[in-house]
Amino acid sequence: MSRIAYVNGRYLPFRDAKVHVEDRGYQFSDAVYEVCEVRDGRLIEERRHLERLKRSLGELRISMPMSPAALGVVLREVVARNRIGYGMVYLQISRGVARRDHAFPSPPVAPSLVVTARPLNMARNAALAAAGIAVVSMPDDRWGRVDIKSVGLLTNVLARQAAIEQGARDAWFVDRDGMVTEAASANAWIVTREGALVTRRADRAILRGITRTVVLDVVGAQGLTVEERAFTLQEALAAREAFITSATQIVLPVVRIDGNAIGDGTPGPVATALRREFHRHAERN
Ligand code: PLP
Repeated sequence: MSRIAYVNGRYLPFRDAKVHVEDRGYQFSDAVYEVCEVRDGRLIEERRHLERLKRSLGELRISMPMSPAALGVVLREVVARNRIGYGMVYLQISRGVARRDHAFPSPPVAPSLVVTARPLNMARNAALAAAGIAVVSMPDDRWGRVDIKSVGLLTNVLARQAAIEQGARDAWFVDRDGMVTEAASANAWIVTREGALVTRRADRAILRGITRTVVLDVVGAQGLTVEERAFTLQEALAAREAFITSATQIVLPVVRIDGNAIGDGTPGPVATALRREFHRHAERN
């Protein structure tokens, strides 16, 4: 079966799914994106993902190409046309196509909208979660507005590649004050020796992950202690557990940081329970 993408109003076979060379997403990373998990062909946390999309667009003064409801129809159509049971749907909106000039096009041009979807391997993801992953720390030298889900991901790309080259799966960014910000494409969490869950407050230094938000709900419902604050790498190394959260990985235990075992070096009970509970709390449409 050939893959189908939505590109500016048309559903196209992948080989024909193209954007213009002067699309500002391509030229300047002048674009934002969202990724939603798909389960049983349904979108997980669509409402929150589209709310965050609206916010990212608003911060960059890019207009929404269609209403959230219409966008939901397109997302579902791409999922259906690609016959995705378990997988992900990706959407990207750029400021549009215009002669290359840093300033916004004047008069404004229509934003470009691209949607793709692909299956994920549930057994492989489950095996990864059962084993836990290794991460390595790296300086967080990204731009100052990583709360906007922009496609400008070069530092994240280099960090992930460096992690793989060091035999790890992901990177944890550390800011100039020695505090962990987040992973290359996920939020970072620890469980302290006292059993409190700690994740950084969602300010401009991290992306406010939708999975993070849902996990905070789950944790609240279970009466666990949560601290939304920054933590150091040393605190993470001494933690009972560590894990990351993202739409495609849900809750993924971290068992090694910079080569040091976290806890007993296997996935801990808190991360394992949160992963198991997550979909009971997440909205699916
Ligand atoms: N932080 C970064 C840098 C990300 O790229 C992502 C997801 O791609 C996340 C956090 C997690 O966000 P979400 O849970 O909405 O997928």
